[in-house]
Amino acid sequence: MQIPFIDFKKLHEPIKEETGAAIQNVIDNNAFVLGKAVSDFEADFANAHDVKHCIAVSSGTDANHLVLWGLGLKEGDEVIIPANTFIATAWGATLCGATPVFVDCEPDNYNIDPKKIEEKITPKTKAIVAVHLYGQPADMDEIRKIADKHNIYLAEDAAQSHIAKYKEKPAGGLSVAASFSFYPGKNLGAFGEGGAVTTNDDELAKKIRMLRDHGSDKKYYHEYYGHNYRMEGIQGAVLGVKLKYLEEWTDRRRAAAKKYKGFLKSIEQIFLPEEMSYARHVYHLYVITTPERDRLQKYLQDNGIASGLHYPVPLHLQKCFEHLGYKKGDFPVTEKLADECLSLPMFPDLSEEQIEYISEKIKHFFKQ
Ligand SMILES: *Cc1c(COP(=O)(O)O)cnc(C)c1O
Repeated sequence: MQIPFIDFKKLHEPIKEETGAAIQNVIDNNAFVLGKAVSDFEADFANAHDVKHCIAVSSGTDANHLVLWGLGLKEGDEVIIPANTFIATAWGATLCGATPVFVDCEPDNYNIDPKKIEEKITPKTKAIVAVHLYGQPADMDEIRKIADKHNIYLAEDAAQSHIAKYKEKPAGGLSVAASFSFYPGKNLGAFGEGGAVTTNDDELAKKIRMLRDHGSDKKYYHEYYGHNYRMEGIQGAVLGVKLKYLEEWTDRRRAAAKKYKGFLKSIEQIFLPEEMSYARHVYHLYVITTPERDRLQKYLQDNGIASGLHYPVPLHLQKCFEHLGYKKGDFPVTEKLADECLSLPMFPDLSEEQIEYISEKIKHFFKQ
């Protein structure tokens, strides 16, 4: 059996006509950039996340930048982010000229460890960006206490956590502003690049909407320095169709995670993802850990099973951040995770038969 990491074909086949018609409609209306399909999607996406504003943009990375740019981050400022995340979280800070300051993650949920944030705060710290990694929200109440105490901004990188929940409240509305990604492999994916910023702050929403479009809300009148971070009409149309299925797809991811747990929990040599009591985990990724990671990955590959590493090199050990002076040993939890993490196939159409096959192979590997 060959099992891909994500089965796009199975996901897109049943909605082929619907997405095709939505794309054709954009072409017929010459609404190639922003336009009605995008603004309709913005309203629906805001609604799904229980927030006032959604600003659709060109990628999750651009959304990371816009959140901090909109908040006025600049050169000399410091932004606290987890060492365990995708690099784009850090670009949010660096694109503003600010410096990312890394913090280790928690051993049970792999998100930023609130207990280790305060020691990193300096007079230059202006914001914390909490990442809801793998689809599970960070412990926002604990992080917010620290942000409030030091009077700094708290933002979210929700690129992996569409409609995830923290204490019954959706990701994206748990801080001053959040960034989402619609990269094709994300839980809600475009047919290309895409992203969004969500916020409940009217002024910030207005500013970010302008920054996205050359610092302007009236053509050829520019209030701010800006950039072209607009979403394409075709992506808005596709996302509008796919958003209607997101609840169902998320339920199926959660069901797949439950089945994995059922099959894998008896294997002592691996550690399975845990859903925190405060969270609704949306399982963007299903990350197990084992000291035998490299050998297990190879064994799965030899048996036709794709897998991934999220992430093999922590941010503080990336070459591009060498000048920041971190070293191996600074963040032991993150570093151990980098060596031991293995993401198993996870997508809404993953069948029980496939999960059983993967699980049997893992069991067999440890019995050898
Ligand atoms: C995917 C991702 C991003 C970047 O999104 P793009 O749309 O690929 O630019 C940012 N942060 C995290 C945590 C991500 O997983």
